Amino acid sequence: MAAEPGPSMATSAGESTGTGAELIGNIQIAKILELLECPVCFDVVLSPILLCENGHSVCSSCKENLATCPVCKDPFTTIRNLLAEEILSRCPVACKNKESGCQVILLGGELSAHHQICDFRLKMSCILFPCNLSCVIMSTIYC
Ligand SMILES: [Zn+2]
Ligand SMILES: [Zn+2]
Ligand SMILES: [Zn+2]
Repeated sequence: MAAEPGPSMATSAGESTGTGAELIGNIQIAKILELLECPVCFDVVLSPILLCENGHSVCSSCKENLATCPVCKDPFTTIRNLLAEEILSRCPVACKNKESGCQVILLGGELSAHHQICDFRLKMSCILFPCNLSCVIMSTIYC
């Protein structure tokens, strides 16, 4: 008796969860990102977001250079602003090199990884010879 291969029933569960997200337009996301702006460098604060004693946030790279909160002058804590990090991880944020020409927009949680590999960060390290092209050529190490 050979085991008959039964027909595999592929249950196609059609997940349609898009009603709420579609209501959130770009304007509202921009307003949310305003709240997540670093008061020092005016970029969006990226994870890990640490709080001062009064709940202000700066981005971690700015915090390294600060003894106290630039807003209220109270010290920083080691408490992370998880709610802000969670919100940020769901919002599309433009690359911090956008003024150099990068058009990448990613969810906040993924942007830190992009900043490490962004082609436009190379513009700053182009020291081999004078560059008249502003280093806008993608995927090249030297301009
Ligand atoms: Zn900053
Ligand atoms: Zn503060
Ligand atoms: Zn970029």
